Order: sequence, then structure tokens, then C-alpha cells
Amino acid sequence: MADFKRDGSHLMSCAPVEKWDDWVEYDPAAWPRRVKKHYQLVPTICFNCESACGLLAYVNKETGEIDKFEGNPRHPASRGRLCAKGPATINQIHDPDRILYPLKRNGPRGSGQWTRTSWGEVLETFGTRMRKAIQEGRGEEIMYHVGRPGHDFIMDRTLQAWGIDGHNSHTNVCSSSARFGYLLWHYADRPSPDHANARFILLLSSHLESGHYFNPHAQRIIEGKMAGAKLAVMDPRLSNTASMADYWLPTYPGTETAVLLAIAKIILDENRFDAAFVKTWTNWEELELPGFRAQGQPFEAFVEALKRHYAVFTPEFAEKESGINAEVIVKLAREIAEAGSRFASHLWRGSASGNLGGWQTARALTLLHVLTGSVGTKGGHNLNAWNKFVPKPFAVPPPQKRWSELLYPQEWPLSTHEMSFLLPHFLKEGRGRVDAYFTRVFNPVWTYPDGFSWIEMLRDESKIGLHAALTPVWNETAWFADYVLPMGLSSERHDLMSQETHAGKWLGFRQPVHRTLRQRDGETFDYSYEANPGEVWEEDEFWINLSWAMDPDGSLGIRQWFESPYRPGQKITTDEYYGWIFENSVPGLPDAAKKENLTPLQYMRKYGAFEVTTDVYRQNEKTLTSAEISNSKVELNGVITKDGKPIGVMAEGKPLVGYGTPSRKLEMFSKTMADWKWPEFALPEYYRSHIHRSAREISLGMTAGDFDAQHMPTVDWPEDARGEVYTLLPIFRLPNLIHTRSGNAKFLYEIAHKNPLWVNPTDAANLGGIRTGDLLKVHTEIGYFVLHAWITEGLAPGVVACSHHLGRWRQNQDGQLERMSSAWVDLQQLAPGQWKMRQVESVRPYKSSDPDTKRIWWSEAGVHQNLTFPVHPDPVSGMHCWHQMVRVEKANKDDCYGDIFVDTNRSFNVYQKWKVLTRPAPGPNGLRRPLWIPRVVRPEESAFYLKH
Ligand code: SF4
Repeated sequence: MADFKRDGSHLMSCAPVEKWDDWVEYDPAAWPRRVKKHYQLVPTICFNCESACGLLAYVNKETGEIDKFEGNPRHPASRGRLCAKGPATINQIHDPDRILYPLKRNGPRGSGQWTRTSWGEVLETFGTRMRKAIQEGRGEEIMYHVGRPGHDFIMDRTLQAWGIDGHNSHTNVCSSSARFGYLLWHYADRPSPDHANARFILLLSSHLESGHYFNPHAQRIIEGKMAGAKLAVMDPRLSNTASMADYWLPTYPGTETAVLLAIAKIILDENRFDAAFVKTWTNWEELELPGFRAQGQPFEAFVEALKRHYAVFTPEFAEKESGINAEVIVKLAREIAEAGSRFASHLWRGSASGNLGGWQTARALTLLHVLTGSVGTKGGHNLNAWNKFVPKPFAVPPPQKRWSELLYPQEWPLSTHEMSFLLPHFLKEGRGRVDAYFTRVFNPVWTYPDGFSWIEMLRDESKIGLHAALTPVWNETAWFADYVLPMGLSSERHDLMSQETHAGKWLGFRQPVHRTLRQRDGETFDYSYEANPGEVWEEDEFWINLSWAMDPDGSLGIRQWFESPYRPGQKITTDEYYGWIFENSVPGLPDAAKKENLTPLQYMRKYGAFEVTTDVYRQNEKTLTSAEISNSKVELNGVITKDGKPIGVMAEGKPLVGYGTPSRKLEMFSKTMADWKWPEFALPEYYRSHIHRSAREISLGMTAGDFDAQHMPTVDWPEDARGEVYTLLPIFRLPNLIHTRSGNAKFLYEIAHKNPLWVNPTDAANLGGIRTGDLLKVHTEIGYFVLHAWITEGLAPGVVACSHHLGRWRQNQDGQLERMSSAWVDLQQLAPGQWKMRQVESVRPYKSSDPDTKRIWWSEAGVHQNLTFPVHPDPVSGMHCWHQMVRVEKANKDDCYGDIFVDTNRSFNVYQKWKVLTRPAPGPNGLRRPLWIPRVVRPEESAFYLKH
């Protein structure tokens, strides 16, 4: 038996790198005969979620085809292991329905009529149109909208080379709420927990099965557990992760912050906090509360004021709010205090993205790390910026001078990301138009709330001039595009990837496998589509060539940014782009390559990943260099400034780097919140979500005693909405699916293909004795959907749940969306704004070039609940608050499984109702948003000021 190793490497049987050029396996299909198969193994990076795990493509030496994908043992984060979605890349590569050539619409928008076109025609059409927009000063009418990101930096660079403010993303329906809570503390907007070395792990997520960076995290959570760490999972739903925990804490949705603040109170009251850390590394001297000002007072006075402030958060209060037993909360607090600097946690979506004010959950969670002194420690809470490596390219264009109000409107001056899910409403309000629209691996009609408002916008040529969907697979949004442009999967494209997966920094290289292999054999290629299936391309080369098409003579100043650093005046190649980065921007890589007589590019093509450093803890304690200190000054509060900008802080008597906040410390007290009209939230606070019980009572016409009307919008039910009121949790993932892109992965759909409504047995009885499989009708504020019930004790009474991962649909019987994963629907517009969808035919076997499609045995595609959700923009973070108050009744005899009805007039009204909760810019000095808060593709500073 192999020696036991904590990282589990004794259980792996990955091909060793010295055998990658000729790896031999027996062909399982030939069993019981022993037939050898010879493979060449080429590393790349998985494209099926954000974790960026390392793949090895097994290229069959006889056929030249990729036969399978397994894990790359040289990848520092995934270490040879994958989830089910990684190997399923093979299904996507060989998908018989995949888009192989660029397509152009040849009928009315949304009619589903397409004709094949050439990449040359696409570049000419968009290049000419975008050149004109820029020349006419309409640069903001060009918009790039990303779903699944990749290639860190190249897109930012491209947009800034064009001089436009045109980057839109999906982040405000995903993670911006948690990001906001984190960044208020320490500028870094994501945590990087060191699970492997922790003694206590608290997850407000389902990280053993899904979620952000979950495969690398799951490995390390298990390592931590095997070394004795306790695991607590706070989740209203009994996820697979919760089932593995020492504590399952099924909070009533939206009350998680109350529990966390109760834990903080216990740690404070029992004086089990790390006083030295809090005193040195928080901005406690800036604390101001009614009747108390910490400045000039001893630290002890601050501690007493803090205890008084949080006195209301007794375990009993938290129990009343959340349903979690007070004794359990006390026990948990003591275990966390005991873990001290080895307390790790994670929060990404869940509570943060479901609730009005969900960003406070991240603030309250980080408060626990600050109190336990577990920020930046081994086994503690580290910062994404310390563990993610983003190398710089050869030249960086200057920031744009413009500011797009379609992306960062004045109502949400603190939003961490673009208010992307409100785009249809912004255009309906006449705030602008989009002349050239690129959606990149992005399917808002399906993944966003209020998809019918997206359809109305996408069909309207006065609002969206020309739309190209850059996508590896058919999706509901591409149906309404003018061009559908096939982009490569993980083995068909270049990208650089790095994520904050653990205590270390690494860089991964996604590469087109066939092109790489053929180049090794001496072939040359101008473009990746020459080696890919059909004419599937990749974005890097597309943007480079589009930029040249926009500026063929260089007169716009765009082309210069896409010229080779090695061959002046010539168009840059991907080999040159990445080669330059590997030679110049990745510390240690040139030396590692040299030791093997390889160039840095050859090294990355060979191994697919590089570990940059494992020295990542306590980066705030780095001493400023003498060059950095030169010409700086120390302000009265200890902040070290240079050219008017903070660069560090005096702490422990030394000039240290500190954090990226204005005080360069962990900001327990946020002056930014006070200055930007939210003084009541200057400290981590609990406020009640839009689905809190009191809001539920109000929605039923009752008076709730302590309902906070100032922060909470009311719910107006449609006249025909009947049934009991419940809180719907609509955002949990199924571990094997990938939003849009798993639709063509037969392995994955065979595993899971249903998204019934989870209902507690008590509620099932209240609903008239419903049973698993019965049809239910779920009413939202703007419509309804019909689906099956699943009776389970895996969530509390009063709460129902449905995964967002299913419910794909197509309008053609025979294509333009994968038939193994989608229902053929009849979509009708009954009146302006009134949409009805009914499933005509669900999944069934069909004939294709893949014999397995004849063997499909499942017959459900799920129900698309997101269509029936109105937008809920949080007035502070701008995040869409996903949880819904719904009414549930037994379906009527006229209702069918999968039925959807929506009134977009109502959704526009809900948008208006949430908008009035905001407190718009300007802030201090006429600013649109605080200068210190990060902004995606940041414009120059002058653009931050409103001009009157
Ligand atoms: S976690 Fe799974 S889907 Fe995500 S990158 Fe890793 S293998 Fe791919």
C-alpha cells in the first residue's frame, strides 16, 4: 500500500510528465483483449467553470483525435483532480450539434434563419461600423458583455486601446454583493481561505460540491478535515456539503448576518478576541457612533463602545431571527475563538446574492476574522489579491477618458460592477442605445432575471444596432443575435488563468491542443481556426484582427497596441503575445524554462501551468522599499502618502504596505459609507432582507411591528396570484452542470436533468397534501411558472427551493439548442409585454452523428424559473437580490409542466420601485463614485467627476 499523504497524491495515477509524449493504455472498448493505445498528452485549462483546473488532452496517435480529458498533475491548484465537468469537455468537443462556422442572420431578428458567412466578412462589417462610431464620438455605443470570463487582461487592454468605456459583465447577478462587503474591509473583494491549514472552517456556501473554485477548495477542505478541522455549513438547504459538516446551520434565508454578529458579540464579551491585532490593524480610531468618538481615546474605550453597539445581538435574538438554537450559536462562537488565527471561511453567492443587504453578510463574516486575528494567516482568511497572479502584457494603453452611464449609472455609486442586468430597463428609459454589441459566452435571456425584457430589447434594432454572440454553444440569447460566432472550448483557444484557490500563486495556460501539437511537428498557422474543428476561432485572435479592421491605416491610434513587440509595425501573433508575457512578466518562469533548455513559451506549452510563489501570508506587513518611501510623507493618522495617494501606513513603528483601503488598515468603520449617504451602515450591521418574515407579513396585508420600511420594498402581487406565501431559494447549482455550457454534455445531463420545487413535508400538508411529482404553480410579482414538487426535509418549513441550472428551451424542433437538454417550446406574445411559453415537446431520443443520442432515456429538461423573476437591484451594492417571495398553489387543470407567463410591464414597475431605494451620486467633491473603490476597466481620474 502506498504511503498515506495528506494531499491524497498516494491515490492518484496520473501519467508522469516524462511519458506525456507516448503514453500507453489498454483500450477498454477492446476488453477482454489487451489492445494498446498510444497517446500524446497536451495540457490545457478547463473552461467549464471559473476554477481553471488543469486538463490533459489525450490525443490518440493513430486518429489524431482527442479521446478524453483527465487532470493535469502539474497544475498547482487542481493537482490532477477534476470534477465531473472537466472530463465532460470531450462531449462538448464532439457535440454533433455544435456551431462550426460563423453564421449571419438572413431573416428578421429572432426568426432563427441563418446563413454561413466568413470571418473576413464579420471583421469587415463590425470593423467599419465601430470605426464610424468612434470617429463620430459614439464610442459608448460599443459594448462588450461577458458571461464566462477568461484571458485576464487582454479584453481590458483591447477596450482601452479602442478608447471606450464599454466593458459589461455578469457579476451583478453573481458575486458583487459579497465582493462589496469584502472590499469595504480590505479593498480586496474576494477571500482566499487557507482551508488546508485551518482548524475551523465556516462555509456560507456549498463548496464541497459547487461554487467558486470549488474543486481546488474541496480538496483542501477535506485535507483540513483529515487533519482535525471542524466544518460548519450555514445554508437553509441541506446541500451535499452540509451533509458532510459537523454543524449544519439552516438559517432562515437572509438572517445569516444576525447569527454572525451574535458570534462576534460572544467573542467580544468573553474577551477572546485578538486585541493586539485589532489595535494594530483596524482603523478603530476612526470609529464614530452616536455619543462616542474613538479618536484620542484609549483602545479599551473603543472596545467597550463596540460591545455596547453589538449588545442587541444576543444568541437569543439571533435564534429568533434565524431559527438556529442559541446554545449552538454559543458553541460555535467558542470553537471559532478557539481556532483563532486558524479560522477559515467562505462566502460567495448564497446569502450574499440572495438578499437585500446581502453584502452585510460578508462584512459580518470578515469581522469574525478580524476579531480572531485570522486575516492573512496560515489556516486563515487571505486576500484574493495575494493569491491570484495577473501578469502584465507588453504595453498597456492609457485609461479611457469616458464614462458610460449605461454601465455605472449615478443611482448606484457604490456598485462594485456594472449594473448589467438593468440594461433593458435603462434602454427603455431612453438612457442610450448600443450600436455594436458583443456577448461573450453569455446568455442573459436564460441566466438573468426578467429574460423577456432582454428578448424585447434584443429584438429592437433601434436599441441594439448589431449584435454578435461569441459562443461555443447555441444558447437562448444567440437566437436573437445578428451574428453567431463560434468560439473555442478549452482545447481550442488561448487564455491565461489564475485564481485564488489556496495559499499560493500560480498561472495556467489554456492552449489550442491540435494547433500546439501540429506546431511541434513543424506546421505553421496564422490562426487557431485553421487547426480547430470547422472554423471555430478564439477571442484573442478575433480581437486583434477586429482592432486592425477598425483602424487599418493606424490613424485612430488603435492599431499600434496590436503590433508585435518583436516585429515593429506587424500584426502581433498569439505566440508573440504570450511569449512576451512569459519572458518578462512571470517571476521565476524564464529560469525554470532555462533549466530544461526551453523557452518560457515552450515551457508553458509543455506543462500548462507554473507555480509563481507560495510566500503569500501577511502581505500587509511587507515593508515599503526605500524607493517607495522616497518623497512620501506620513499623515497625522499614520497613512503614508506619495503624490497625494496612500501607499502604506506606519504600523508597529515601521512603514508597511498595509491594505488597499483609504486608512491602509482593515476598515471596521467605513467612512466611505458615511460619506456616501449610508451612515447607518458605517459598521457591519444586520438589516432585514426583502424576504424577511416581516416583509412576508406585509405582503399579506398585515402590519409587522419592526418592519423597516426605509430599506425594504413592498411586494405587489398580480391579481391572479393565489396560494400560500413562501420564500423561494432559486440560486443553488447542481454540481454537474454549468449554467449554459453543459447543454451539449451528454455525460452531465444523464446525471441530472430535473429541477423540481423542494417543499418541506409540513408545507406539503398545508398545501392540501401534495406529494412528490404533483404539479405546482409558483407565482412571482410578474408572472408564474409550473413545475413538479419534491417533498423533502432538506429545508425548513416556509422555504421552497429550485435550482437555476435547468429549464433550457429552444424554438426550433430540430436544433439551434441542444436537443438532449432543452424543451421545444411555443413562445407567444399575447399583448404588449405579455409573454406565454408552453413546452411542446420535451427531451427524447433523436438521430445524429453520435449514436448515444438515440439512447437518451430521460424526458425532462426542467423549468426556466428565472424568466419569472423581476429585477431586484440592491440600493447599495447594486447586486440583483435573487431570493423571491412567491405564492405557491396546486396547479390548475389548464396548467402544464413548464408553463411560464410573464408581464414585462410589471417587471418595469418593480424595477422602478427598487430604484427609489437608492441614494445617488454625487458624493463628496462631485464624485460619481469613491476614487479608492476598484472599477472594472478603470477610466482616468477626471472621468470620476460629474460635470455640471
Ligand atoms: S471545478 Fe470542474 S468544471 Fe471547474 S474548472 Fe475544475 S474540472 Fe473544470
